Amino acid sequence: MAASEITTEVVIIGAGPCGLFQVFELGLLGINAHIVDSLASPGGQCTELYPDKPIYDIPALPVCGAQELVDRLMQQIHPFHPQFHLGQEVMELHRKEDGRFHVRTVTGTTFDAGAVVIAGGVGSFQPRRLGVEGAEAFEGNSIRYRVREASEMHGKHLVIFGGGDSALDWTLELAQKAASLTLVHRRAEFRAAPASVAKMKALVDGGRMRLFEGMAQSLLIDKGRLCGITVHETRGSSVTLEAECVLVFFGLHPKLGPIAEWGLELEKKALKVDTEKFQTSVPGIFAVGDINTYPGKKKLILSGFHEAALAAFAIQHHLYPAKKQFLQYTTTSPVMQKRLGVTSP
Ligand SMILES: Cc1cc2nc3c(=O)[nH]c(=O)nc-3n(C[C@H](O)[C@H](O)[C@H](O)COP(=O)(O)OP(=O)(O)OC[C@H]3O[C@@H](n4cnc5c(N)ncnc54)[C@H](O)[C@@H]3O)c2cc1C
Repeated sequence: MAASEITTEVVIIGAGPCGLFQVFELGLLGINAHIVDSLASPGGQCTELYPDKPIYDIPALPVCGAQELVDRLMQQIHPFHPQFHLGQEVMELHRKEDGRFHVRTVTGTTFDAGAVVIAGGVGSFQPRRLGVEGAEAFEGNSIRYRVREASEMHGKHLVIFGGGDSALDWTLELAQKAASLTLVHRRAEFRAAPASVAKMKALVDGGRMRLFEGMAQSLLIDKGRLCGITVHETRGSSVTLEAECVLVFFGLHPKLGPIAEWGLELEKKALKVDTEKFQTSVPGIFAVGDINTYPGKKKLILSGFHEAALAAFAIQHHLYPAKKQFLQYTTTSPVMQKRLGVTSP
């Protein structure tokens, strides 16, 4: 047994809306869960792809912002105190001889779980890469796809790639603190908030930073260290920019990744499940939300919520086969209300 192994009833892989609601449905039945996501914050596609967009088909919420939905789900599951393990992709999942499951993340967090729910959506989100020869060797050091500590960038010659909100936010944050800062975007139009673009252009006009329209072409390396990057400009010429650190914000794309290697039956990059338990081809491993497929499947949040409710009952039966199951209403069940930390009048 690994020294840091966490023993738990359930591990949920994926903290998108369906993974979060799975916590709730399990919690109502008195089952605890640890929830893991490769992203730094919960919310899946809602948070990563369309946080400010309105959703109109969540029952009883005529309109709800995507991030607002995630915030509401987080509030709803709060009474169950789920333990989050964020910024960690799950790499390994297999059934052990004793019928329990081994789950391991890329950072080495290891679980011994009675059941597993895969709520992996369209896969784990990965940053779109710079796409320049030799870049891999510098990734995580001189070439970064996320900034954990802004102060590490202070006093450095920086080149930032991208035209969305992340690229512009970091440009504005670092322009006054870097030794030099150049923003490179492949087009004249930006996807970022217009106010951020206006502020950036004011910094360019004031000579505090530079802006180029073009794409990364090659790296300039001296004695194993990154010292510059050559950009092919849209207008045809090439320019080499001094760069101690290159920040790349080309957005994220989903990758089914390790899920495809866990020996589970797949159909068109989705996990085949039954519609009674939402169980995969391996008993004890369930799948809810966009990651699963069955006849008539529709990739909607609403569908994932229903799947999570039925999967919770199936998981309870898997963990405690002798336990008698009966349906209780949150409106009237003292047990559920105790779990929720509420009392009805
Ligand atoms: C622009 C847009 C608008 C939409 N509008 C609507 C709408 O109006 N109504 C509606 O019902 N649906 C809508 N959808 C679809 C909806 O967002 C999805 O159905 C929903 O997000 C699926 O939730 P999920 O929890 O299954 O997966 P996701 O939201 O995709 O979350 C899955 C999570 O699993 C994580 N993950 C995957 N693999 C691993 C791994 N190996 N290790 C760790 N973490 C992993 C991912 O990082 C991700 O955070 C929209 C989608 C888009 C893109």
